[in-house]
Amino acid sequence: MNFDLPEQVEELRVHVEAFAAKKLAPGALERAHSAEYPWDVSRLMAEQGLLGLTISEEKGGQGASLLEAIIAIQAVSKYDPRSADVIQAGNFGAIRTLAEYATEEQQEKYLTPLLAGEAIVSLGMTEPGAGSAVTDLVTTATADGDDFLVNGTKVFGTHSTEASFYLVYVRFGPGVGGIGSVIIDRGEPGLTIGKPSRFMNGEDWSQIYFDNVRIPISQVLLGEGGFKKQISGFNVERLGNAARSIAVGKHAFDFAVEHVLTREQFGRPLAEFQGLQWMFAEQAVRLESAQLLLMRAALEADAGMPSAQSTAIAKYAANEAGFGAANLAVQALGGTGFSEEAIVEYCFRRTRGWMIAGGSTEMLKNRIAEGVFGRRFSQREGASR
Ligand SMILES: Cc1cc2nc3c(=O)[nH]c(=O)nc-3n(C[C@H](O)[C@H](O)[C@H](O)COP(=O)(O)OP(=O)(O)OC[C@H]3O[C@@H](n4cnc5c(N)ncnc54)[C@H](O)[C@@H]3O)c2cc1C
Repeated sequence: MNFDLPEQVEELRVHVEAFAAKKLAPGALERAHSAEYPWDVSRLMAEQGLLGLTISEEKGGQGASLLEAIIAIQAVSKYDPRSADVIQAGNFGAIRTLAEYATEEQQEKYLTPLLAGEAIVSLGMTEPGAGSAVTDLVTTATADGDDFLVNGTKVFGTHSTEASFYLVYVRFGPGVGGIGSVIIDRGEPGLTIGKPSRFMNGEDWSQIYFDNVRIPISQVLLGEGGFKKQISGFNVERLGNAARSIAVGKHAFDFAVEHVLTREQFGRPLAEFQGLQWMFAEQAVRLESAQLLLMRAALEADAGMPSAQSTAIAKYAANEAGFGAANLAVQALGGTGFSEEAIVEYCFRRTRGWMIAGGSTEMLKNRIAEGVFGRRFSQREGASR
């Protein structure tokens, strides 16, 4: 057993950190306060080969491992937390589902521009009546001749205001088995993008309405029975979310370490007060534990044994550790930490969202408890336990 990064991964880390320090660090604070997707960074990352790291070379990616994508996210976050969103979008979640299941024609049309950093996809899963209970979704795709008509509403989608296209979870029929997904272009007649609303983390989202949106069968990604495949892709999304939680929390933590070493009160550096030292010690333990759990989940997934349990444990630990570290940083910087002058307030807002997105910490604990007790606990009222 060895906790060192494999040589190739370590080389990537060094390379990406050098790139991020030079090209991204200077605009980090400004980017953190912009709701717009950083398209300049997106193209830059495509040039650097940082998009599609985990996608095979024949599909236009780099054929690297999940571990490498995680290390790349963290290397970028070290210098520019906001730009790590681009690595997430280019390597985890919807892009992976497309790489895995899209037809050749769909890959040409959708995957290619995503990998070039010129397009962005929004995942339309959550609905007003289906949040944690995602299988309660009611957006339908109904056959009409050779086409499908899509009707329904999606909420909270990351990149939903700016997306080039949407990967939409739909219901072709009843039950979990009736759920699949379709790809819908922005601008398709019947698709309306609602008024943008802002998350606490600074990202905009819009309600997306589908009113008899007509799509040909070639826009279906996964038909009936596709839900399980989509959710296994979602487990990978969770690892990206976990990686960013730790990395953004660590960014704030490192910032705060520098601050308390230099800021003096009562004639001494803040770092000399034990009350603060213990807060830093506790968060250091949480960050490092979460990182080890994340590495385990990523290595299992790379070895072809992705575990929903290890992933849930890693994301839960990472979400708590990331937010805990950012929260500490805000406190340790005092008034400065609570102000937009310092990036730690962004890290605080950002890490908070990941405790809800991608499987809330409560839903993760439900999943972890199932692993602990070796049985399923239905959350539904009246379900036999
Ligand atoms: C920053 C951010 C980005 C997001 N990005 C996307 C995206 O790209 N695409 C997309 O489709 N959606 C996205 N979402 C939506 C996200 O998936 C949902 O917010 C999440 O699933 C929770 O659903 P909800 O908001 O309806 O809350 P609810 O499901 O109503 O839950 C409210 C609270 O109750 C708790 N709760 C619910 N059920 C249980 C239970 N059985 N046991 C214990 N506690 C429970 C939850 O944990 C939560 O704390 C995003 C959300 C955020 C905050």
